[in-house]
Amino acid sequence: MLLPFDYVRARTKEDAVNLAIEAGPNGSFLAGGTDLFVRMYDRQHKPKILIDVKEIEGIEGIECQNGEDLSIGAASPLNMLVRNKFIRSEYGLLAQAAHSVGSLQVRNRASIGGNICNASPAADTAPTLLVYEAEIETWGPKNSRLISIGEFFTGPGKTVLEQGEFVHKIRIPKKDTESYGVYLKLGRTNSVDLSIVSVACLALASGEVRIALGAVASTPIRVRKAESVLLNSKDEEAIARAASLAREMAVPITDIRAGEEYRLEMTEVMTGNAIRQALAGLAAIGEVK
Ligand SMILES: Cc1cc2nc3c(=O)[nH]c(=O)nc-3n(C[C@H](O)[C@H](O)[C@H](O)COP(=O)(O)OP(=O)(O)OC[C@H]3O[C@@H](n4cnc5c(N)ncnc54)[C@H](O)[C@@H]3O)c2cc1C
Repeated sequence: MLLPFDYVRARTKEDAVNLAIEAGPNGSFLAGGTDLFVRMYDRQHKPKILIDVKEIEGIEGIECQNGEDLSIGAASPLNMLVRNKFIRSEYGLLAQAAHSVGSLQVRNRASIGGNICNASPAADTAPTLLVYEAEIETWGPKNSRLISIGEFFTGPGKTVLEQGEFVHKIRIPKKDTESYGVYLKLGRTNSVDLSIVSVACLALASGEVRIALGAVASTPIRVRKAESVLLNSKDEEAIARAASLAREMAVPITDIRAGEEYRLEMTEVMTGNAIRQALAGLAAIGEVK
């Protein structure tokens, strides 16, 4: 059973900040509620005031035009991303990651902002946002700020967000080169489970290969040392070396989903597979053009 709480709907950005500051540690922002209500039900979190952000202007919806940054309202449900034609064709990796979350019903409520503010090391959109080098646009007591996704997570359940600050939009820089992305997720079951290991890999026509891992460290991580091996060579030896470096950079724990050693092993296997698939996908785009 849930403990009693008050519900307030913020109408503007300023309203949300003021309500959150007034509520202090008793307040919690609410988007889809798919994570928050589970934690409240389990008594891991006991907010007395929920501040619904979904009516704030610009917090829901996708603005994407060719030649500009992709801007996604933080409260946009993940299924909105999955169904958006521009995201599917130009930022396919994000659509894959969003589609891997929970079930159809969960994705209809679960927002991309909630997914990252939750700050689970296993959050499925996080590795993808890391390889797209997304920026998080927030609104808070000090007005607006842009935070690089690489600096956003500070630990399990922790972010750099300050008291009263919420995520308004997520910005992904415009594509200036062709790319192909692959998201691989290993769970205990094929659906409706958090990752044991996840890998996002983005191969760019510029020659860069970006790799990020989920569920194998206290936050989602970009593994730049592994990426650097692929700058000069993309042969099987280089791929194996990059995969092995990704394993070295992982610092997983043993929990109810999997043991540390299994996670390490799968990090290496899945990183190798993700690189191969991303490079093959990029090569195939080259062939059809
Ligand atoms: C059955 C089930 C399966 C799931 N499967 C997966 C899965 O496979 N992969 C996965 O990654 N997650 C999964 N989840 C977790 C959850 O659905 C996602 O993390 C989801 O994206 C959270 O979004 P939400 O809008 O529901 O967030 P909420 O529950 O509304 O909020 C989550 C947290 O973020 C804060 N918050 C929300 N929006 C903002 C904002 N704009 N600014 C500041 N703080 C904010 C809230 O205060 C709260 O602390 C699952 C959950 C369930 C119940």
